[in-house]
Amino acid sequence: MTPLETILKTRITAQGPLSVSEYMTICLFHPEHGYYSTRDPFGTEGDFVTAPEISQMFGELIGLTLAQTWMDQGQPAQIALVELGPGRGTLMADILRTLRAVPDFAKACDVHFVEASTRLKAVQKETLQGYEPIWHDTVDELPESLPIYAIANEFFDALPIRQMVRDGEEWRERQVGLADDALAFGLSGPAPLTALAHRFEDTKDDDLVETCAPAPAILQAIASRIEANGGAALIFDYGDWRSLGDTLQAVHAHEKVDALFKPGQSDLTAHVDFEALVADLACSHSRLTPQGIFLERLGITDRAQTLAKNLSGAALDQHIAAHRRLTHPEEMGTLFKTLALFPKDANPPAGYET
Ligand code: SAH
Repeated sequence: MTPLETILKTRITAQGPLSVSEYMTICLFHPEHGYYSTRDPFGTEGDFVTAPEISQMFGELIGLTLAQTWMDQGQPAQIALVELGPGRGTLMADILRTLRAVPDFAKACDVHFVEASTRLKAVQKETLQGYEPIWHDTVDELPESLPIYAIANEFFDALPIRQMVRDGEEWRERQVGLADDALAFGLSGPAPLTALAHRFEDTKDDDLVETCAPAPAILQAIASRIEANGGAALIFDYGDWRSLGDTLQAVHAHEKVDALFKPGQSDLTAHVDFEALVADLACSHSRLTPQGIFLERLGITDRAQTLAKNLSGAALDQHIAAHRRLTHPEEMGTLFKTLALFPKDANPPAGYET
């Protein structure tokens, strides 16, 4: 039993079942035993591999899109280059290296990170040596009067979700309780939920719908700054337009495991409902685009061929596999999606369509 499992059981015995959202928050961010508080989950040693950890090409193409957007918006002299949930800092390091080719943009940028994990902040500091990122606990602390150029890769999938199961014209909440002294899923009593009224259209009894209250609130804070001062935000995550069904997923040592397995030692994520994410934004947003199509539009295959010229043997094989992994429909190319936010009076960033 993990230390966190003991803590969870004591709490459930004293206070009753937890919502899935409470369970996720404790598992990911418990100060002593939470997943992101205790470990560096990325890469071959960790539990999962993200796009920037697969290949430098991901960050290079994003860096160039941001630079092009900055030029299209009149090259403002000072901007905030923001990343939400930077993990190891690899994506930002790749972007900043690419921006050396656009020195005026690089000069205009102050780097801002929104990061909840103290442990990962230390890793980011190490990766970004030579730069002086400014860390924030929440988006509300981001500058109010600067253009914002923001990126978020696999950030929104880590935010806690609630799961609601339809019961007639009401909803029961999926909860984590105890059965035979083991953690077990159960359902609350039925209750009306006005926020889900629109989901009666496309659901039937026993269908499960997920909601993520923190996600739209975070994006709205970014969108209002973009509309007021300019900039853009590029969001990458797995999910779709309007969620339906249970997408809560746990991964431990590269294997999918049960969501209640080894709490605090397994990563927990859920698909992003992009429709809910971009509801009520102050600025415009692009169409939701599969990651593979986005990267192809930006010329990832040309870039891959250029890099391949200097590679041979195992390194070349790995590079070819990385290109495939990022773009192929059977790998991350279709499951992962991207969309961009931009001011109402601007064009979408390169690679996106409205
Ligand atoms: N973007 C990185 C890491 C993705 S993992 C990559 O692509 O490799 C999710 C990241 O979001 C971690 O850095 C985690 O600590 C951070 N995070 C999760 N929830 C957060 C929250 N509510 N506030 C700030 N950071 C959060």
